[in-house]
Amino acid sequence: MLDVPVAQRMPREIAPGVFWIGDCLVQRHKGGEYHGYNAAFLVSGNDASILVETGHPKDFPVIERHLNVLFERGVAPLKFLFVTHQETPHCGGLGRVLKTFPDALLVGDVSDYHLAFPQYEHRMRSMKEGDEIDLGGRSLMAVEPVIRDLRTTWWGFDTKERVLFPGDGFAYSHYHEDGHCGLVAEEAVSLDLPDVSSTFADLALFWTKFADMNVYCDRLDHLIERLGVKTIAPTHGLPITDVMATVPKVQEGLKAAALKPESGTNEKTSMVAAE
Ligand SMILES: [Zn+2]
Ligand SMILES: [Zn+2]
Repeated sequence: MLDVPVAQRMPREIAPGVFWIGDCLVQRHKGGEYHGYNAAFLVSGNDASILVETGHPKDFPVIERHLNVLFERGVAPLKFLFVTHQETPHCGGLGRVLKTFPDALLVGDVSDYHLAFPQYEHRMRSMKEGDEIDLGGRSLMAVEPVIRDLRTTWWGFDTKERVLFPGDGFAYSHYHEDGHCGLVAEEAVSLDLPDVSSTFADLALFWTKFADMNVYCDRLDHLIERLGVKTIAPTHGLPITDVMATVPKVQEGLKAAALKPESGTNEKTSMVAAE
């Protein structure tokens, strides 16, 4: 994959029948430029496919293009959309997806969407832990969301290839200059995972400042072991294909971030700099 031009890396099959789609988002922080993802994933079964997350609004044309590429290659039709939680980079394209795919059902955390989209209320199915969506030969299960942004969050899990979809868990940026775009975490060898994980937690997951992250990391280890997770497909980070080697580095960042006071959002940082 390292010798494939960046523009041709996506959609990328990160496990059999599991495709990573979307594009990078440039974020400025402490005078530097970081790239993040607001990715979506397509899980393809024998009878149906499920889209996990909808991507950031700026990426809708890219995501539609990637989906069409996959459908042309013969993946099963889109019958389900699973969103981890109600935040724009995760669910912002929900109305568009339900309109484009009139047979698709919305599953996962569906809180309050019936108020935003009353015309689609009959196509929403709330899930709870252990519920499974059958795709034919594999299913997408709702599992415990250990590291989460909102109370109603669910994580997803592909039962066949044992891929975990942790939404805001395992969130970290990557270095565009080092050619990390479209690479899995283990290929991005120059990426300082503890540092980028700590930075993301600092900016986006404020509650980690007030929690004992050792307890959360232990719980995460327990979940990974219980489910036999082989691949992790985070919405904002690069996919993890060597769970044993890479997860401890991300956890190191979460624990380090918890020990530092909150530095504020990007906006606040730049306003202070301008004053
Ligand atoms: Zn997020
Ligand atoms: Zn990038």
